[in-house]
Amino acid sequence: MKAYEKIYIGGEWVSPSGKGHFEVTDSSTEEVIGRIPAGNATDVERAVRAARAAFDAWSRKTPAERADYLLKIQAGLQARGQEIAETIAAEVGMPAALSTMIQAGLPIMSFGVAASIAQTYAFEEQIGTSVIVKEPVGVVGAITPWNYPLHQIAAKVAHALAAGCTVVAKPSEIAPLSAFILAEVIDEVRLPRGVFNMVTGDGPTVGEAIAAHPEIDMVSFTGSTRAGKRVSEVASHTVKRVALELGGKSANIILDDADLAKAVKAGVQNCYLNSGQTCSAWTRMLVPQAKHDEAVAIAKKVAETFTLGGALAPGTRLGPLASKAQQERVRGYIKKGIDEGATLVTGGAEQPENLPKGYFVKPTVFANVKPTMTIAQEEIFGPVLSIIPYKDEEDAIRIANDSIYGLAGGVWSGDPERAKRVARRLRTGQVDINGGNFNPLAPFGGYKQSGRGREHGKFGFEEFLEIKSMQL
Ligand code: NAD
Repeated sequence: MKAYEKIYIGGEWVSPSGKGHFEVTDSSTEEVIGRIPAGNATDVERAVRAARAAFDAWSRKTPAERADYLLKIQAGLQARGQEIAETIAAEVGMPAALSTMIQAGLPIMSFGVAASIAQTYAFEEQIGTSVIVKEPVGVVGAITPWNYPLHQIAAKVAHALAAGCTVVAKPSEIAPLSAFILAEVIDEVRLPRGVFNMVTGDGPTVGEAIAAHPEIDMVSFTGSTRAGKRVSEVASHTVKRVALELGGKSANIILDDADLAKAVKAGVQNCYLNSGQTCSAWTRMLVPQAKHDEAVAIAKKVAETFTLGGALAPGTRLGPLASKAQQERVRGYIKKGIDEGATLVTGGAEQPENLPKGYFVKPTVFANVKPTMTIAQEEIFGPVLSIIPYKDEEDAIRIANDSIYGLAGGVWSGDPERAKRVARRLRTGQVDINGGNFNPLAPFGGYKQSGRGREHGKFGFEEFLEIKSMQL
């Protein structure tokens, strides 16, 4: 049991003014494994003051000096990599081996990437008689969700610090424990006081206090579209910069000349990553009408290889969801899919018989899904795949774009040029062609209601910069 009583402000662990706390549960066993303080607006006020006071000196350090700190943080996280992986596996439900690679591996990598960008970035350029200088935007508020908890914090904090910003972070109250590990590492490497601050608590109290604060220059939010809209509203009164990484309902278009078996298998795997708790998951599989039944048979077989089990149990391929609320929500969507007439191929809304405890949802596949059905339109955030038949290529593109979201997608074809042509017509921030690998340096972010702005790599770094033009 990890019981934290303090929050991190101005380079010290301090008692919050908020008096409550949140309990953290192990999603595989439902046992309480942690406790964190519920901060409040007074705590945010203190944290913002510390971040503001630290900004001038931090922003005037050389990029190389800032990079040195980032590399020290990276080394500190690396040393605790196993603990990070196990902690997040328990909180979120991702199987341990994957958690090591993704939940611990990606944030560690982000601190290295941000360091190297800081070292090589051209902060100045000349345009005619003007010198254009890129400067840190100021104090950044970072509000993050629970599905990839440290990865999402690192995407913001590493790049913001590299740019010369100072940060007030609010991790998700559902999976906050790895954020405490990060704060401990930051404390150990003696990052200058106030450069990084962390206030834990809930969204309406701590999150909104951050979004509203006049001394926060930018709020970078990852989470649901619902909360992202609220953050935008609250932030608008101070005209601060708002970056949003929100939900998705990504389409995986399998064209008629694709290797069907390979594309369907990869599509199911993508949809089920982290038990479907992935904003960029390909939750809609679009297949040619004539190949629908064949695709469904393959998908069923692949889905049934996803052995459900505790995140830390050997042999588990699909862990539980992060919370009871999430489990209930996903089960509700499965029932809705059945009620609206989609064909349930495998899985279902019941608790698996062999796993009476834990927030498990069976790997579920729906076939004959119509684009207008709820399960084809709303983000489910669980291991639920909707297979949608289409008439021809134009129809596939139309269905793929028939969404309020635009985060990611996939296109499969025997002809890579054809796949690229289709990919260009998708209104989304990322598209993987024939299973192209995840690239941690590529910009990540959404069109439409999936958000605003990009994270990761050079484009993510630039979000934290202001532009000044000096005429000579
Ligand atoms: P959520 O929106 O409930 O919470 C996200 C964070 O926002 C948490 O820290 C929460 O405390 C805070 N929050 C909640 N209400 C708030 C408010 N009114 N003001 C300020 N902050 C508030 O989302 P979640 O359930 O934690 O995460 C799941 C969602 O996040 C999914 O919809 C998923 O698609 C999305 N997501 C998007 C990305 C992306 O990069 N696009 C990545 C991961 C998750």
